Amino acid sequence: MEHYDVAIIGAGMSGLSAGIRCAHFGRKVVILEQHNAPGGLNSFYAKDGRKYDVGLHAMTNFAPPSERRAIFNKLLRQLRIDRSELNLIEQRSSRIAFPGTDLRFSNDEALLESEVAQAFPHQIDGFKRLSETVRGFDDRELEAPYRSARVWVEGFVSDPLLQDMIFCPLMYYGSAVEDDMDVGQFVVMFRSIFHEGFARPVDGIRRLIRVVLDRYRKLGGIRKMKTGVRRLRIESGKVSRIELENGGEISASVVLSCAGLPETYALIQPPVSEDLPSLQGRLSFAETIAVYRSLPETWGWGDDTIVFFNRSERFHYRDASDAVDLASGVLCFPNNFEFGDRALSEGVVRVTCLANHDLWRSYDEAEYAEAKRVWFERIQGAILPLMPEFTRDFSSELVATDMFTPKTVHRFTRRSRGAIYGSPTKIKDGKTPVSNLFLCGTDQGYLGIVGSMLSGVVMANEHVLKGVG
Ligand SMILES: Cc1cc2nc3c(=O)[nH]c(=O)nc-3n(C[C@H](O)[C@H](O)[C@H](O)COP(=O)(O)OP(=O)(O)OC[C@H]3O[C@@H](n4cnc5c(N)ncnc54)[C@H](O)[C@@H]3O)c2cc1C
Repeated sequence: MEHYDVAIIGAGMSGLSAGIRCAHFGRKVVILEQHNAPGGLNSFYAKDGRKYDVGLHAMTNFAPPSERRAIFNKLLRQLRIDRSELNLIEQRSSRIAFPGTDLRFSNDEALLESEVAQAFPHQIDGFKRLSETVRGFDDRELEAPYRSARVWVEGFVSDPLLQDMIFCPLMYYGSAVEDDMDVGQFVVMFRSIFHEGFARPVDGIRRLIRVVLDRYRKLGGIRKMKTGVRRLRIESGKVSRIELENGGEISASVVLSCAGLPETYALIQPPVSEDLPSLQGRLSFAETIAVYRSLPETWGWGDDTIVFFNRSERFHYRDASDAVDLASGVLCFPNNFEFGDRALSEGVVRVTCLANHDLWRSYDEAEYAEAKRVWFERIQGAILPLMPEFTRDFSSELVATDMFTPKTVHRFTRRSRGAIYGSPTKIKDGKTPVSNLFLCGTDQGYLGIVGSMLSGVVMANEHVLKGVG
């Protein structure tokens, strides 16, 4: 049986980042991935000759290279990735669109402050206080036990509409909890979206994945694709053997898993005494992708990079009661980053809405195909009123469409209930009841592309490399 210093379950962004750290410090490391493509929730594919990204609207935490203390720049240093390799371009601006009230924001945090001052003059002092408290928040407190951010924010901002407008982007981009989030997670998301901002590699997520994979490979890291982990055999409180779905077996001194909390616990044999269903996330999403012959700016929609919209009186972020919840969502225009002369040749509109995992999984093949057709149309209809020229019929310009559902997420990543943000229970120190098994990524508590990469680095530093470098 081959032995490794470190075995990593999953070639998601956190697993790959952890792999780079371990390999950089000379550890013999293997990444075991059940799928044939790396990147996990962040991936890419081609359909009918067209390339699509999965899992990238925007990378959060944008900071200019000069800000050496910024999280993003620290992350790249930890991974020894040269920032210029990513070819990052910034967002134009984004918007929180609620009935009758809009708030714009960009990578210049002053824009949001001035928008709040204009739309909510009686709340601006509280908003500024909130923003400064978030900035000065003690990082050690980020690890504190769960506290309701909804209650915490009321201490700064009293208008429910402004509260909802602040929470909408932060929840959509990073909460595994229904209708609320942890204060620590709120602080992380507020900083990464409102204080820092959005960017993307010019070529999309494939560029980031290629850079990370190249780095891992050059350091001698081993990657085994289509190699799912079937079981983690425990002896004397430690993982003694890793049984693979292809019938093989390996052993490792340390096992890091980015597969998720309930998903990882389900691999442990004999089982740990946890109520696995209670650990499963409840929030999943559907996303439509529409490709147009023309660019959004020719429809008068060239400013918005991301629009977080809510169409009802209060904003709700919870498991959808119907197959898709059209009351709120996220609209992404990949064209509306600062591409300069490298503009995409086609217009792309992506819409993400909350969706009901159980319903989507209950459909047979024909029902599933029909539900996708029906909900694609409904989602496009729901966003029309947000468009500047919404009376115009764009259907003749549509050249390609695609859609994914909670079923797709589950199928490709094995996330239980298709829960992109994983379990509502986060294990911030990464520790499990098994002494050499640790979590990294989403269920360690850092979400999103940058967050999960950071988690991989932090968990590798803490549980594999402590005291090194
Ligand atoms: C549609 C969509 C849009 C998104 N948009 C954004 C965005 O704009 N910005 C942003 O920052 N984030 C976005 N995200 C979120 C971001 O992609 C995730 O938070 C992040 O990629 C999670 O990484 P991870 O490493 O924690 O987990 P994952 O990516 O889930 O990786 C887990 C890996 O483990 C593998 N695995 C599971 N079980 C096993 C097993 N038994 N054996 C072997 N391998 C296994 C899976 O196949 C997977 O590759 C989006 C996600 C989606 C789906």
